[in-house]
Amino acid sequence: MIVDRVRAVRERISRAAQRAGRRPEDVTLVAVSKTFPAEAMREAYAAGLREFGENKVQEGERKAAELRDLREGADLRLHLIGHLQSNKAKKAAACFDVVHSVDSAELAQKLSRAAVDAGRVLQVLVQVDLAHEPTKHGAGEDALYPLLEALRGLPGLRSSGLMVLPPFDLEPEAVRPWFRRLRELREAATARGLLLEGAELSMGMSHDFEIAIEEGATLVRVGTALFGERRQAA
Ligand SMILES: *Cc1c(COP(=O)(O)O)cnc(C)c1O
Repeated sequence: MIVDRVRAVRERISRAAQRAGRRPEDVTLVAVSKTFPAEAMREAYAAGLREFGENKVQEGERKAAELRDLREGADLRLHLIGHLQSNKAKKAAACFDVVHSVDSAELAQKLSRAAVDAGRVLQVLVQVDLAHEPTKHGAGEDALYPLLEALRGLPGLRSSGLMVLPPFDLEPEAVRPWFRRLRELREAATARGLLLEGAELSMGMSHDFEIAIEEGATLVRVGTALFGERRQAA
């Protein structure tokens, strides 16, 4: 039952927050629903979840339509956590509320224009590429400040923090340095006036969200621990 898994994950979030001297309510659980049907999301919504993560624009579009009653009539929000190609900016701006994967000024400009045209303001995070893996997306550390600077001038976007997807490691402790680095970058950006104090840190997945919370995560992206194993490739 999803409701039991939601409760178990929330308890783990609380314990990790307490260990770190943080308040559990300062950590938002983003339920990663990619590959799972809208009915599973309704069940999770009924169990109290409000924020849902998808990694593909097309799937997000379909679910936004299927869940229109909960998006427009209630408070369900969709987060894009996967890579966004700039030719899909228009579609993304229509169906997502938060985009975690902004990694270039060009993409940000397109997204902002599309949001303005749709009469919306999107919350966006900059995905930072700390590991320089060829298969991963994200802005390099050297590109971070100019990108945050560019975001400030865009009327369709509200720049609200940073996101990282560290190299997968079965041993959760191994990813701690990446999470710590993202927090340091947030402090540095805040000191330069490029982010607000306490800006969002989107980090941590099913197998390492507790470590991420100890290192300051404000948004944890949890799929498997809530919905079970994915059968299709994500
Ligand atoms: C799939 C995905 C997650 C969730 O992964 P789980 O291991 O199922 O919790 C988190 N973040 C991103 C970017 C993803 O693509």
